[in-house]
Amino acid sequence: MTVYCLGSINADNVYSVPHLPAPGETLAATGLFRGLGGKGANQSVAAALGGARVVHIGAVGPDGRWAVDRLAEFGVDTAHVVQSDHPTGHAIINVAPDGENAIVIFPGANARQDGVRIEAALADAGPGDTLLMQNETSHQAEAAALAVGRGMHVVYSAAPFDLVALGAVLPRLSLLVLNAVEAAQMRSALGEVTGPEVIVTDGANGATWYFDGQCIAAPAFPVKPMDTTGAGDCFIGSLVAALDLGKDRTGALRYATAAAAIQVTRPGTTDAMPTLAEVRAFLT
Ligand code: ATP
Repeated sequence: MTVYCLGSINADNVYSVPHLPAPGETLAATGLFRGLGGKGANQSVAAALGGARVVHIGAVGPDGRWAVDRLAEFGVDTAHVVQSDHPTGHAIINVAPDGENAIVIFPGANARQDGVRIEAALADAGPGDTLLMQNETSHQAEAAALAVGRGMHVVYSAAPFDLVALGAVLPRLSLLVLNAVEAAQMRSALGEVTGPEVIVTDGANGATWYFDGQCIAAPAFPVKPMDTTGAGDCFIGSLVAALDLGKDRTGALRYATAAAAIQVTRPGTTDAMPTLAEVRAFLT
């Protein structure tokens, strides 16, 4: 089946800093790494490397051809990534020696999706296919409604967390994925959510899947993290690929926690995502 990812495409600028800057502080970075990022691109790459057929739906600016080419190099179908007049989104990512990060994002073209184009991209989609989204683009609610109309699964990563954006898609979701901070924000605003199945990720504590009044907990694999940027995206893209390839909840959780464990030991976001073969080797 196919995973359609409506998602952001960013130029990531990752700075190694001695500590995360305090308000008013100016810091000299000790390193700079540039690469393809954005939650959408990250998740598309993780899913494609995990063996899924992935169609990315998104937008870049006139300066973004390299990002589309990079997505394609990872095996993502980019036929529905358009070039808009707005600049390509970018991110300033500060990473401290312990792997903690602080991020500023400029959305640019990511915030200028086009409903007609999304409809065209989903024209061949149907039951068994998945729409994967995060909260870094416009038109999520419209896309979710189209996907449900086509009988697709809708998986949503509620990051960056925004209650209004979440509320607009919540009734259409099959699976909602949040990190522990986002889950606490959601519970304090909405209480326990009924409807979609929910996965809560919690860094080095692993992840828990809640469904039908039951839960499955998957511990994280013990590794020494180097850069945790994109761990959640690696987890989600890998999970969706594993489900798409027929794994059950337990198997998909195990695959996704293994993929994310590998990813946090490497620098960068998309460049740090492991292949199916690497995850299989890690698990044996
Ligand atoms: P980010 O915002 O940094 O991309 P996130 O906050 O969305 O990440 P996390 O909950 O931190 O997501 O991590 C997602 C998954 O990645 C975890 O459930 C876990 O399986 C794996 N992971 C994250 N950090 C570690 C770690 N230090 N060691 C092993 N696995 C980790």
